[in-house]
Amino acid sequence: MATLADAGLIFSTQTHPMPASAEQRDAVLANPGFGTHFSDHMVTIEWTEGEGWHDAVVGPRQPIALDPAASVLHYAQEIFEGLKAYKQADGSIALFRPEANAARFNQSAQRLAMPELPEALFVEAIERLVKIDSDWIPAGEGASLYLRPFMIATEAFLGVRPAKRYKFIVIASPAGNYFKSGAPAVSIWVSDYTRAAPGGTGAAKCGGNYAASLVPQAEAISRGHDQVVFLDAAEHKWIEELGGMNLYFVFEDGTLLTPALTGTILPGITRDSLLQLAREEGLKVEEGKYSLDQWRDDATSGKLVETFACGTAAVVTPVGKVSDRDGAFTIGSGGPGQLTAKLKNRLVSIQRGEAADSHGWIRKIA
Ligand SMILES: *Cc1c(COP(=O)(O)O)cnc(C)c1O
Repeated sequence: MATLADAGLIFSTQTHPMPASAEQRDAVLANPGFGTHFSDHMVTIEWTEGEGWHDAVVGPRQPIALDPAASVLHYAQEIFEGLKAYKQADGSIALFRPEANAARFNQSAQRLAMPELPEALFVEAIERLVKIDSDWIPAGEGASLYLRPFMIATEAFLGVRPAKRYKFIVIASPAGNYFKSGAPAVSIWVSDYTRAAPGGTGAAKCGGNYAASLVPQAEAISRGHDQVVFLDAAEHKWIEELGGMNLYFVFEDGTLLTPALTGTILPGITRDSLLQLAREEGLKVEEGKYSLDQWRDDATSGKLVETFACGTAAVVTPVGKVSDRDGAFTIGSGGPGQLTAKLKNRLVSIQRGEAADSHGWIRKIA
């Protein structure tokens, strides 16, 4: 749906008249947490039917005015992405695979009947925000500037059809470690709810999927677990993913397995990166099906030695314990496993610019 004119869009820049003071910013950066603090600026780009993308602005972060009839508020026409800017070992700033986020954003846009954003424009918007707010990138292990590009339907119309107006926005949030407990391994609850059904929106990164995952996630927390894991909708047998992270299983012979992308699983960029890194390590990695029963049996017999979840926000997180209505089982020693730690280290050292980037995954910001 993008027009040729979109490619040469000119950004206007308005610097914040009253940015946070250096003291305020330093206080945030010393202990950023996750998702609660934001940088001074934001990017907005408008889309209107017939005109395409226009009015690209890097400006002060501020509330947005929406008509109460805006379709996003009623029918949830919304998609988003998540990626990080990292301080590199040499002091420069880099993004990790932003082109992959741009491509996935457009896949999500297609599924939600929204206009696609030219990939170069998506990446440029992010780069401009990171540049203007480069003082907001925390340093140190596990720290980054988390970027949240998203698109909403802004047309005031209550009829049910794709909207004719959209707003693309990017905001930035300094981030420390995702799991504030710093727990060495998470405990997960197997939900009776399902996240995604065949033909549904499971492979799209849309807010609606998350809205539907809140009750299952709250149930997991109330039962004393950290996260929820979803099984497939049809047979309630096959392991799919967590609410916002993909899963990997590690076996005693050193092979890895991750659920195949069948349309009900979000195609994680962390998942894909680890797939490539593990294969380069000479490991055998399969994409396939794995059932809850098999998982339990293999963990009990010792055939399965590690399980980890992965995603941009929490990177690589070991799973220590799995519970459902029938009981619980422990993975390996219940703590972080060796291969999990090794793969995480491989990935993080590339993201930090400490290891060679042989894949062209790192995009430095001038
Ligand atoms: C974003 C997301 C992931 C992880 O994707 P990354 O690209 O690795 O951050 C996994 N599952 C769901 C449901 C997600 O929304």
